[in-house]
Amino acid sequence: MAKIQMKTPLVEMDGDEMTRIIWKMIKDILLLPYIDLKTEYYDLGLEHRNETNDQVTFDSAEATKKYGVAVKCATITPNADRMTEYNLKEMWKSPNGTIRAILDGTVFRTPIIVKGITPFIPTWTKPITIARHAYGDVYKNTEMQVPKGSKCELVCTDKDGNETRSLIHEFKDSDGIIQGLHNIDKSIASFARSCFNFALDTKQDIWFASKDTISKKYDHRFKDIFAEIFETEYKEKFAAAGIEYFYTLIDDAVARVIRSEGGYIWACKNYDGDVMSDMVATAYGSLAMMTSVLVSPDGVYEYEAAHGTVQRHYYKHLKGEKTSTNSVATLFAWTGALRKRGEMDGTPELCEFADKLEKATIKTIEDGVMTGDLALLSSLPNKQKVDTEEFLLAINERLKAMM
Ligand code: NAP
Ligand code: MG
Repeated sequence: MAKIQMKTPLVEMDGDEMTRIIWKMIKDILLLPYIDLKTEYYDLGLEHRNETNDQVTFDSAEATKKYGVAVKCATITPNADRMTEYNLKEMWKSPNGTIRAILDGTVFRTPIIVKGITPFIPTWTKPITIARHAYGDVYKNTEMQVPKGSKCELVCTDKDGNETRSLIHEFKDSDGIIQGLHNIDKSIASFARSCFNFALDTKQDIWFASKDTISKKYDHRFKDIFAEIFETEYKEKFAAAGIEYFYTLIDDAVARVIRSEGGYIWACKNYDGDVMSDMVATAYGSLAMMTSVLVSPDGVYEYEAAHGTVQRHYYKHLKGEKTSTNSVATLFAWTGALRKRGEMDGTPELCEFADKLEKATIKTIEDGVMTGDLALLSSLPNKQKVDTEEFLLAINERLKAMM
């Protein structure tokens, strides 16, 4: 059979530890035999980031802007232990943070649902995708402990030197605490556009919520920016696609999410997204079944798994032991990127291949063949735990039958 051709390359960002091992296996077993794979390769493994003084991370993000689609392997974010382990010149920043800042993107996380693994909320039969605004609020705050007798004010000095003051609190009879937060319209607008684009892209409704009844200027600004951009740029496109934008209060959103069956995108302010993404991921069962895509407001896409480099499995692998590491999220990062490449280039064969590979993967698990993490969760009676490579080979058997 002739291999599927690609018109434009994908940006390929290689990574670290066990996910780097899986990365190569996925390519060798499931991609290269079927596709004449064109990628522009960037090695984001920690050793190479260190050799290039992290330049490779910046270059990979610029390439993503150029080509429009990237697929990324999980990477180590260095800490003190990694400084000695890899003899690093500097404690390089998180590659994901660097790439997100360059693309000005929003991260969307979606669980992969399979029969046999029931979410803790059993009515969630479709995925809930969470989008987290990744700028400002409490993550870029200024805070103080203040002694009794203090008077605290917000002061804004404009470009001409005029001051506007507003009382926060007079601490008359107790010590206390204060906190200053900010956000910027430009970042909120980028977040809104990324969310609306992704909703159109995946043909799902999008919900956004804040506490605008209490925070009449701060949270209300988020609500207004979303509403304005929706009205002027997206309303008609949403109508044509048959999807909705829905704004509500955060409390109401939480209640509705629990009662829902899933199948929509939930856009969250930074703190809400931090907390709710952990709740939603846990409720769906496994971090190894969670995909993640970074979407820029101008429509650039970077796909990856939501989990890390699975370090403990890597050390086992280095000792020559077999591991049973789940490759599904990394595999779906590849299928997501290939499908998007196919859509952008007008090569439907590539999209069809991505669909088949996803179907073959889900079928493998639903046939009872799975890695150890899923075997612990699955309620299927005939389940069989296989190792990392056996799982990919089992997917390939099913994929071959579909081709
Ligand atoms: P992790 O790699 O996500 O793994 C934590 C644990 O979750 C594993 O030890 C394993 O549990 C389980 N797990 C995660 N993914 C799995 C998979 N695919 N298959 C089977 N089990 C899986 O998180 P971490 O150990 O905290 O972080 C390791 C490194 O990853 C760190 O250096 C961190 O900086 C990096 N990281 C990178 C990203 C990214 O690039 N997006 C995200 C998060 C973390 P058991 O050991 O119990 O089997
Ligand atoms: Mg969190």
